Amino acid sequence: MATKSARLGTCPNCGGTITSGYLLIEYDTNEGQERFAECPSCAEIVHPAH
Ligand SMILES: [Zn+2]
Repeated sequence: MATKSARLGTCPNCGGTITSGYLLIEYDTNEGQERFAECPSCAEIVHPAH
């Protein structure tokens, strides 16, 4: 298993680490890039915090 999963950020709900495998959607806004991911720890759809 050499697959390296990039860290997207942490869950604002439970503080767990969210990796790229859990990324659901990524899009650009006027503010920059927005991402939504499913947290592997609490199963909530969250905006990963950095
Ligand atoms: Zn979480």
